[in-house]
Amino acid sequence: MTHPFLDLPPLSAGRFAAIEDRVARLLGTGQDVVVMQGEALLPLEGAIRAAAGPGTVALNVVTGPYGQTFGNWLRDCGATVHDLAVPFHTAVSAEQVGRALAEHPEIDFVSLVHAEAATGNTNPVAEIGEVVRAHGALFYLDAVASVGAEPVLPDAWGVDLCVIGAQKAMGGPAGVSAVSVSERAWARMAANPNAPRRSYLSLLDWKERWIDGGRKALLHAPAQLEMLALEACVERIEAEGPGTVMARHASAAAATRAGALALGGLEPYVYEAGDAAPVATTLRTPSDVDASALVARALESDPALPLAAGGGALAGEMIRVNHYGPDATRGAVQGCLAALGAALVERGVKADPEAARRAAEEAWERATGPGLSEG
Ligand SMILES: *Cc1c(COP(=O)(O)O)cnc(C)c1O
Repeated sequence: MTHPFLDLPPLSAGRFAAIEDRVARLLGTGQDVVVMQGEALLPLEGAIRAAAGPGTVALNVVTGPYGQTFGNWLRDCGATVHDLAVPFHTAVSAEQVGRALAEHPEIDFVSLVHAEAATGNTNPVAEIGEVVRAHGALFYLDAVASVGAEPVLPDAWGVDLCVIGAQKAMGGPAGVSAVSVSERAWARMAANPNAPRRSYLSLLDWKERWIDGGRKALLHAPAQLEMLALEACVERIEAEGPGTVMARHASAAAATRAGALALGGLEPYVYEAGDAAPVATTLRTPSDVDASALVARALESDPALPLAAGGGALAGEMIRVNHYGPDATRGAVQGCLAALGAALVERGVKADPEAARRAAEEAWERATGPGLSEG
């Protein structure tokens, strides 16, 4: 009996290389792309441990929880770390990055998260990349939450290490991820005696044994299911058109923001619309309404809605509308607004669910324009 998940033949080196090439096309990059056999934390950690050591002076931009994690890894590697933390309700600017680089000219590594699904902001990577390139530092970017939802262009932006995962806007698997690596980044790793070697974390192993060998022999058996799912989700994005997929995410963000503003009670957590991520919209609850309780109540009406409370200390005040991948639709956005509106009204908060519905609909139309309006 055949089964879609079982008795799969091993994934060939040729198929693996073809999937890497497909991911490279999605990123518009001529750099090497290594598909890693684990969730995105694998290349995120592997790239930092490969590129950073006791001689490294890093500027670590913190716009959400992942930036904090990167700072911890960098310190663990022995790097000197200058954290540039901005409040979670905003984005970092290229000017702020430029000032930090001018204050510490010895900085030779910059880490940045593109979009933060956890806090709902997105950073202007193209502008920041110009500043980083002018300074000459190696540029490390976490694009896990942005890829598929907005342009991610490592070559155009001068990103040396660009990490993506498929589980957010790409609507794909969480078990594999990818990193694009510039020649400069490979050279930095090769010169780093502390870079992981003969290790599951090692990017250099893939460089030396896979890429330099002409991608003929894999290091170990790849995770077939996840690899096939990654191939399928890139194929689906190509078929819909990356621009259309990104437009759906932009519309979902605009509609959620407009709907929340018209609803009343909830406020966009990220103050400026331009700083808000297309991948997910974060909302602030009134001071006397616990966000986790409100989300729990909303999910009782429809457990499939892409709603979550903020993580950790944000759980009391932040709602996340995760309108990404298959949920970057009018239906998901309207469903979230309706469920949150009903839960607020039930609690006695003055809210207008019908105004929210209309505002979200209009914002979706405005953002998408006629012709692309079937979301
Ligand atoms: C989702 C995400 C990741 C991957 O982490 P998970 O907690 O496994 O989902 C990494 N970086 C960013 C910015 C993310 O949003």
